[in-house]
Amino acid sequence: MNLKEHIRGIQDFPKPGILFYDISPMLAHGEAWKTAIERLADAIRPHKPDLLVGIESRGFLVAAPLALALGIGFVMVRKHGKLPGDKIAHSYDLEYGTDTIEVQADAVEPGQRVVVLDDLLATGGTMAAAINLLRQVGADVRAAAFLVELTFLNGRDKLDVEAISLLSYD
Ligand code: 5GP
Repeated sequence: MNLKEHIRGIQDFPKPGILFYDISPMLAHGEAWKTAIERLADAIRPHKPDLLVGIESRGFLVAAPLALALGIGFVMVRKHGKLPGDKIAHSYDLEYGTDTIEVQADAVEPGQRVVVLDDLLATGGTMAAAINLLRQVGADVRAAAFLVELTFLNGRDKLDVEAISLLSYD
């Protein structure tokens, strides 16, 4: 199955000049979505994760079914102010301003092997920040995985773990 047939490019979203890769058609197509999750599961399994981590919000869509498929737990990295209880936060620079992400302090036990998921790798800033945050709670980050990679932005160069992606655009 050619999964690229289920990714839609939308011009000028969210800003003029940006081509946005929309994964909604893949989510809406049961067979395509099942195939995507199975292929990612096969790529992640050799890393033997104890837990999968999803980055809010489209990363949740990928990480939750993958965790079920692999029979392991799922942890959320969320934007500031969304998680209850004791949290660890990490702030990182954006093109304009900064952003803060958080994880619950007891979400990962020190030394646990994790693979971090997001829907798409662009510049790598979001994933690099999530990996940094997870290391602060003692995670052993084994890999970062994505449905889509925009290779021309060289985001994987910002990551010091293996980057796994199903589909790439250049
Ligand atoms: P980065 O931090 O790698 O530059 O950007 C990746 C983050 O922005 C991901 O969380 C991803 O969801 C979002 N993102 C950036 N561009 C796109 C896009 O074209 N399509 C989708 N679905 N997400 C994008």
